[in-house]
Amino acid sequence: MSVSVCLTFDFDGISSWAGGARHTRSPNLLARGEFGAVGAERLLDLLKERGLPSTWFTPGHTIDTWPELCQRIADEGHELGYHGYCHEGPTSKREETEERAILERGMACIDRIQGRPPVGSRNAGGNLGPRWVDLLLEYGFSYDSSMSPHDVLPTWVRQGDIARTDGPHVFGEPVDLVELPFDWALDDWPYFSPDRPRQEGLRPPNEVFDIWSAEFDYLHQRLGEGVFVLCFHPQCIGRGARMLMLERLIDHMQQAEGVSFRTMEDVADEFRRSQR
Ligand SMILES: [Zn+2]
Repeated sequence: MSVSVCLTFDFDGISSWAGGARHTRSPNLLARGEFGAVGAERLLDLLKERGLPSTWFTPGHTIDTWPELCQRIADEGHELGYHGYCHEGPTSKREETEERAILERGMACIDRIQGRPPVGSRNAGGNLGPRWVDLLLEYGFSYDSSMSPHDVLPTWVRQGDIARTDGPHVFGEPVDLVELPFDWALDDWPYFSPDRPRQEGLRPPNEVFDIWSAEFDYLHQRLGEGVFVLCFHPQCIGRGARMLMLERLIDHMQQAEGVSFRTMEDVADEFRRSQR
């Protein structure tokens, strides 16, 4: 029996508030992103204390804003993955040259602190856009983590699907890009986001612990094999009550037999080897 746990952190920081057209650049909204740096310090301390590897999808904007903190992520052995320059998602509305420029800039920031470009990518919001898979393949990415055709198993990304309404779905051909599941159910943003209306983001941490631990237990006890990808935003999970809940969740998963904590790159590599 083998279950891998991937702790992943989307370290958006200020980028998701400053970028995009959703918000005005008001000081209080930017400050929510600034708290991400506080949360990141706490998370790195926790990971160090527990000796756990992890993966940080970090926009170039975050790296340029807090270079020393981001260097600490790399120096402490965590993986850095691509997440835009300023949290731009790929989109059909953008020109290809602009999309490439953003990709190259974000990758260069990671290369600078990690000593090599990222091999993994998580879409920074919106939809993936028609060129995105081609670009990830062209730029040598090993895996993507933006979709969940399966909740706990790695899959191959496909190209050439045809979505029809007058007949069955036409599945395209797999390409050399691994998909590691991402789903809102295992993301802290819907539960703890500061931008939900009517404070819906203030869900009790114990309630979220119940959901996440049950998702893990189903994988571990019923399926016995798979990868459990949790997505955290330091600006959400970094608050005290939620940090204590995360500690409890890590305890819960560490106590289960046959469970290893790994980087996404490591899991993607193993999947690729197993398929050859
Ligand atoms: Zn993000």
